[in-house]
Amino acid sequence: MILRASVGTLYKLGLRRGVTLDLETAYLMLDGKCQFNCLYCTHALTSKTNHRFLSRVVWEEVNFDQIIEPIKSSDLKRICIQTVSYKGYRKDLRHLLTKIKQTNRAISISVRAENIDEVNEYFELGVDRVSIALDVASERFFTKIRGGSFQQTMKLLEDSSRSFPKKISTHIIVGLGETDRELFEVMNKMRELEIQVALFAFMPIKGTVLSSTKRPSIERYRRIQLARYLIFTNRADLIVLEGNDIVGFKRIPADAGSALLTSGCPDCSRPYYNEKPGEPLYNIHSKELLKNIDLMREVKQ
Ligand code: SF4
Repeated sequence: MILRASVGTLYKLGLRRGVTLDLETAYLMLDGKCQFNCLYCTHALTSKTNHRFLSRVVWEEVNFDQIIEPIKSSDLKRICIQTVSYKGYRKDLRHLLTKIKQTNRAISISVRAENIDEVNEYFELGVDRVSIALDVASERFFTKIRGGSFQQTMKLLEDSSRSFPKKISTHIIVGLGETDRELFEVMNKMRELEIQVALFAFMPIKGTVLSSTKRPSIERYRRIQLARYLIFTNRADLIVLEGNDIVGFKRIPADAGSALLTSGCPDCSRPYYNEKPGEPLYNIHSKELLKNIDLMREVKQ
């Protein structure tokens, strides 16, 4: 089993020296040779990227005994386990989940589950939430970019949410060729199913097939963040869609700044996952940082 922890997590746990961020979730990864070939992913079958990276974040190999006590004595609320789909990952994940229970923290796992039985198994092992990534919001591009079937992934999300209401999350990446309308429709569907949406901005990474594809503009990403927030707070009627584009909002509510905070499972902030320190932040990882953002200017009302 190859277990990794993000550098931010290692800083937080005092296992590596660096700027300590105010993390509430520890990010771990079960690593190996992935059997899939998502064109944007650093772990894809054909990726030439060093496995220390997931997106732009460095993940160092750790052993379980090294992290368990620091986690127990920290103020972390949640542990997220990102699982690479290598042969045998299920057995390793089962083993890790059995051991990690002793931390008494809420556990989220992000996994390319094959079916509802697999999702069932993880809940039986005590996880709090399961995230099944959709990543690609457009059915037109899903198979080409991610492999597999859009409809089957949607069906698994739906079945999982019916069996485990309010306990399922998904990841969606903005900037993989989808239209605003496709994002709007998928996010609406997730709202109906009570599935939390963790939004990411596409980040081209050297060594991956999509390394020369452009990132979404910050203005578009802000509009999608605001649309997600309005959908999930039952105010989708404020979103103005023309053709395939979100062109504005009937009004921007006073609480709309919260739309820019990292979304997904509770306590998840994923600092600098989409951006380098010093660059404009796509996902804002703390309420403190929101003060520096002029939402009206950024969505270009
Ligand atoms: S939303 Fe955050 S905590 Fe939940 S699975 Fe995704 S990365 Fe992990």
